[in-house]
Amino acid sequence: MRVSQMLIPTLRETPAEAEVVSHQLMVRAGFIRKAAAGVYTFLPLAWRVVRKIEQIVREEMNRMGGQEIMMPIIQPAELWQESGRWDVYGPELFRLKDRHGRDFCLGPTHEEIITDLVRGEVSSYKQLPLLLYQMQNKYRDERRPRFGLMRGREFIMKDLYSFDRDEEGLDVSYKKMYEAYNNIFRRCGLVFRPVEADSGAIGGNDTHEFMVLAESGEATVVYCPAEPCGYAANVERAVSPPELPAVQESPGPLQEVVTPGQKTVEQVTKGLGIGPERIIKTILYQTEKGMAAALVRGDREVNEIKLQKVLDVLRLEIAGPEAVEGLTGAAVGFAGPVGLKDIPIVADQEVEAMSNAVCGANKTGAHLMGVNPGRDFQWQKCADIRLVKRGCACPNCGSPMEEARGIEVGQVFKLGTKYSKVLGADYLDEKGESHPIVMGCYGVGVTRTMAAAIEQNHDKDGILWPVSIAPFHVVVIPVSNKDSRQVETAERIYGELVEAGVEAVIDDRNERPGVKFKDADLVGYPLRITVGKSLAEGKVELRHRRDGEVVMLLETEVVKRVR
Ligand code: ATP
Ligand code: MG
Ligand code: MG
Ligand code: MG
Repeated sequence: MRVSQMLIPTLRETPAEAEVVSHQLMVRAGFIRKAAAGVYTFLPLAWRVVRKIEQIVREEMNRMGGQEIMMPIIQPAELWQESGRWDVYGPELFRLKDRHGRDFCLGPTHEEIITDLVRGEVSSYKQLPLLLYQMQNKYRDERRPRFGLMRGREFIMKDLYSFDRDEEGLDVSYKKMYEAYNNIFRRCGLVFRPVEADSGAIGGNDTHEFMVLAESGEATVVYCPAEPCGYAANVERAVSPPELPAVQESPGPLQEVVTPGQKTVEQVTKGLGIGPERIIKTILYQTEKGMAAALVRGDREVNEIKLQKVLDVLRLEIAGPEAVEGLTGAAVGFAGPVGLKDIPIVADQEVEAMSNAVCGANKTGAHLMGVNPGRDFQWQKCADIRLVKRGCACPNCGSPMEEARGIEVGQVFKLGTKYSKVLGADYLDEKGESHPIVMGCYGVGVTRTMAAAIEQNHDKDGILWPVSIAPFHVVVIPVSNKDSRQVETAERIYGELVEAGVEAVIDDRNERPGVKFKDADLVGYPLRITVGKSLAEGKVELRHRRDGEVVMLLETEVVKRVR
């Protein structure tokens, strides 16, 4: 390709709104342009990178027996109502109506559609296991779309779903995907770590996230540096994401309610004027009035398990079943009490602050209703309660753990029978007995991976593409457009490269050499061939973008070296 004819609108200035380096560089190097918050157009260079990442993902999925399909982006509300997620998914779901007033959503993920497909098409054990995947735009109305492609509202994901007869089968599929993901991110040239993760809203047990290590990452990873242990986990696994609940309208005046014995979550949430499905996330915060546990949006069972996990990690105990109800009911309020179970692992300032907070909590069997966070007390993100952190003992081997920032580029997830049961996806075994199909789901953020690659591979001048996903491999630059020998030689080298199947461009623009060099560094072609003055001695320059290493080669040799 000829740079003079390509759409590569590079900019000298860093766009003000771009906070992270990948966003800045993708805009500056002419890769992406914004259409709306979290929605982007991919220009030619970016699209080549996307296609390369997709191809790597595709090859690894196919190698494991995955079959590529394409499901609809527009999904009928009925399926989501059937799975129960229409109400649970919340404002992240893009909802729309057709001309008849029927409800639809834009797919943020495809468990419903694929389970519907499989319940219709699979009936026998002979059809299992089955691995189906797609590469597709996903839609999530993120609370804070930001960081360019890292957190978009429209983004490309590969999602694969596995269908097995039983847990053992699922184990096999899970291991295959785990291995495939390792291959994918290695082939993309990334430094990453699979970490134990929290099952969160999807529900289920085993799950790992693949984290690209980078300072700009939104996730915190704790890992054990000891060999061969290598234990690693998302801090979220111990403590839920620090999302502050929105300030809510108070349903009434502040009022202390004594919870008699076994008050159900339904009763409590009804009292608060919200449905129990709103309860999803366990958030443990320190408030002015003491330790608070709030559970917002989601199902109760999951929350109680999660809350218990949080309390376990904190080595705290809840006073009794009433208190659990109190805590569970604290959907928009706060509750307690919680007490210290034993001496915490790290006895430092943070823990002291925590135990002080705990003592001031609400009394047993009672919780406050009509509490308005923000009015009656301030939510305070309690980062201090993370006891799993740098310096803590690894749960596996006891070595001191390290902390790092990570970008979640993929996640593998054992769903079990969560969807097959509610949607009725069953199969008959050899004896003709019916069982729910055991499922897994596995996502790779294709466009986020592209951003993560830049976060990890750049310098002050621009992008340092890993060769496997670089938009082009070589740029050929004639230094002077007026020197016909230089131009002819550059054209010949370019022609030979293309002939040899090398992905090359020639910067044939009528620009000063400085401009071409700057753009070449910004775009990040791994190799640059400069045809300049040394041509007098029959030589051209081959420069490696990553380390700046330069070798002078005979113009007749250079193509051989690059191939
Ligand atoms: P996050 O925790 O960052 O919100 P997630 O856990 O909600 O991500 P998954 O549902 O696990 O995301 O989706 C699979 C993959 O899709 C993620 O690992 C990530 O790489 C990618 N992804 C998710 N949300 C976005 C987004 N808003 N923009 C770009 N990629 C995304
Ligand atoms: Mg998310
Ligand atoms: Mg996540
Ligand atoms: Mg995830």
